[in-house]
Amino acid sequence: MTVSTKDRPVTAAPDLPEELVLLQRTARQFVEDRLRPHEREIEERSEIPRALLDEIAAMGFFGIGFPEEVGGQGFGKLGYTVVVEQLARANAAIWNVIGGSIGLCATAISLGGDDAQKRRFLPDLLSAKRIGAYALSEPGAGSDAGSLRTRARRDGDAYVLDGAKTFITNAPIADVFVVFANIDPDAGSKGITAFVVDRDAPGLRIGPCDEKMGLHGSTTAQIFFTDMRVAADRRLGDEGRGFPLALKTLDHGRLGLAASSVGAAQRLLEASVEYARSRKQFGKPIGTNQAI
Ligand SMILES: Cc1cc2nc3c(=O)[nH]c(=O)nc-3n(C[C@H](O)[C@H](O)[C@H](O)COP(=O)(O)OP(=O)(O)OC[C@H]3O[C@@H](n4cnc5c(N)ncnc54)[C@H](O)[C@@H]3O)c2cc1C
Repeated sequence: MTVSTKDRPVTAAPDLPEELVLLQRTARQFVEDRLRPHEREIEERSEIPRALLDEIAAMGFFGIGFPEEVGGQGFGKLGYTVVVEQLARANAAIWNVIGGSIGLCATAISLGGDDAQKRRFLPDLLSAKRIGAYALSEPGAGSDAGSLRTRARRDGDAYVLDGAKTFITNAPIADVFVVFANIDPDAGSKGITAFVVDRDAPGLRIGPCDEKMGLHGSTTAQIFFTDMRVAADRRLGDEGRGFPLALKTLDHGRLGLAASSVGAAQRLLEASVEYARSRKQFGKPIGTNQAI
């Protein structure tokens, strides 16, 4: 089914500032012109073409909600949700990839990192030079993330990680991971500590892509750590402060999920109405007698 919503006006909230109405229009036009034509290809090839991610980054949409000092566009959380809502009108996998990279990975660094770490990691993530991932869940620790079992132990000027993570969005394509591991299991979730890990870290292995029922363009995989060393200056925040950081990051991530759900639902509603109006049964469109 091909439904064009290209000429449909954007319905702005009455109190949306003028600059965000403009941002919304720009994002909507970009989605219609550049992303929608690739929807089917993304689903069929189970990947988003790198050139398309670069185009999205060139529009500034990876850094839209982050401050300019760290390479963002400075539109704040409201601007972020405005853009996410529009991006979700295309294949939902597109937002999922961006959400994993900036909604989770970059957000964790932004919330938990010191100034040097923010300067070091954020500009590349917010320009999509590097793609990020957020590695919290484990086979035995999903909803109950505080019971994660990946271990970290201090060794000189580094930490050594052992364990595994599961369902990690972007793992097959990510360059950088925020990883949560426990340095003191006796302390329970108060031992959880966060680290920024590069893909090429010796001892880090990425499993094969998970087979999912949908969201094929957004790939997930398990990741494994075997005596994987990460320098101490890559620890986000203090030892044992990783769990509050993980939860705070997920709160921000949920903002993006909510906005993307609204955008996807709008698109589906419009497609349903257009279909009902064009579908003919008994010689006339089925919607002619309905208030749709
Ligand atoms: C497509 C996809 C992408 C993902 N990307 C990431 C990622 O990038 N990074 C990451 O770290 N994780 C990621 N995850 C993992 C995700 O965060 C977990 O799937 C989620 O936390 C749920 O954990 P679980 O799958 O182990 O389910 P479970 O924790 O086993 O929960 C299963 C069901 O039981 C319910 N439940 C749990 N505990 C209770 C209880 N005490 N009482 C009653 N009901 C309960 C839950 O609500 C849920 O409905 C991803 C998952 C998916 C599917």
